[in-house]
Formats: sequence, structure tokens, C-alpha cells
Amino acid sequence: MALLQSFLLRRPAWLTLRRQCQLCDETTDHPRHDICTACEAELPWLGAHCLVCALPLPAQGMVCGACQKKPPAFTRVEAPWRYAFPVDSLITRFKHQAQWPYGRLLGELLAEHLQHAYDEGLPRPQALLAVPLAQRRERQRGFNQARMLADWLSRALHIPAPDTWLTRTLDTPAQQGLDAATRKRNLRQAFVVSAPEQVKGQHLALIDDVLTTGATANILAHLLLRAGAARVDVYCLARTPPPGG
Ligand SMILES: [Zn+2]
Ligand SMILES: [Zn+2]
Repeated sequence: MALLQSFLLRRPAWLTLRRQCQLCDETTDHPRHDICTACEAELPWLGAHCLVCALPLPAQGMVCGACQKKPPAFTRVEAPWRYAFPVDSLITRFKHQAQWPYGRLLGELLAEHLQHAYDEGLPRPQALLAVPLAQRRERQRGFNQARMLADWLSRALHIPAPDTWLTRTLDTPAQQGLDAATRKRNLRQAFVVSAPEQVKGQHLALIDDVLTTGATANILAHLLLRAGAARVDVYCLARTPPPGG
């Protein structure tokens, strides 16, 4: 015992809990994540946004024009950040260069954001469903970043993330040059709710890395509601600012 104690007292500095900030390489004493408080504060936190689709807006507590005109099938989007520097480049490195520690750091911070929202009264979903990636793209990339995020969130929040309820049946053909209606139809046919009996009556949350137009999330939420889901929310890392904004 005395020997162990003296060993512990003499343990070298690198054995003590010291983390390195993944953004600036400084050592940080953040109790939970590999990010320093200065870098964390400088992240592009979302601020005022649409209460439905999380589009950045100039004032708090509003619903954007698009959601007022045509409410989407999902109830609410939760995103901690605007899609801006450095979150955009961290997501790109996670997705296209398979730099998973960046994805994991952002995923941990998203889990924290969601836990805070639950504590404030946001209803907890019963399951998390990753947005399926086109098979061709998943083969090229070797992984689905939404699936990885869903797994990290599942572990942190203790919410199941079944990966067989929602599947992608076919690869959508190149969408360029097609009109909006055709694009939408192609996208709608690309997904299938493969476990409708599980989905029935459930409050679900779709998981994706970035929400841009929300078209895919809207189609998936439609499909899930049609299969009997009670409510569909969307959780993502970042929301793009309004076009031209
Ligand atoms: Zn830092
Ligand atoms: Zn909106």
C-alpha cells in the first residue's frame, strides 16, 4: 500500500488528467472534452433561430417564413451550431478524411446540448435514427457519418439507435438538371421504413451531420409519420444560414 501510494505520488505529469485541445493543441483542463474553454466559446453557436427548422434568424422565439407557409413534417430541429468556421471544416475532415476524433468531439458536445434541452423540457425521443447514406457513397466513404453520430449520441444519452428501421433502397440518380418535383420524387423513393411495426406510436429523432434545405429530413419525417410515428425531430451538428445570409 505504501509502495503504491508513493508510486501514485511520484507519477509523472503525463499520467495526470491532462487533455489537449483538438483545435489549438493547447493543454486544457476541460473536465469532459478535448477542447479548451477559449476554443469552445469561439464556436459558431447558433443563437436566435426558427423554433421549427433552426434556421438562423435575427430575433429569438420566431418561426421562419418557410415554416409558416408550409410547416415541415418534423416538429423541431436541434442543432448547437451554425455551419460556419471552424465547425464546417471539422465536419468536412470528419466526413471526407475520416478524422473521427473531430466527429466524436462534436458529437459529445451535441449530446451535451441535447441533455441540456431535455432538462429544459424538450421531450426525449424513444429512438434515434441515422439518415441512411446512398449505398454508393457509403461504399466509397467506408462509413456513414450520421450512423457514427447516432451511435455516440445513443451511448451518451441512453436512447437506442436501431439501424434497421430506416433504410435506403436505391441510389438516387444524379439530381442535377432535374426539376424540384422530380428530385423530390426520386428522394422519396430512395428510402423505406423497414420496421413499420416498431415505428408505430414512437417519438423518433433523425440524426444527420448538417441540415441544409431540410428536404431529405422532411421526406424521411413524412415517411415515418405515415408509418405511424407519433413525432419526428431532427438532431444535427450544424444548420446552414439562410441562402445569401
Ligand atoms: Zn483550444
Ligand atoms: Zn423554419
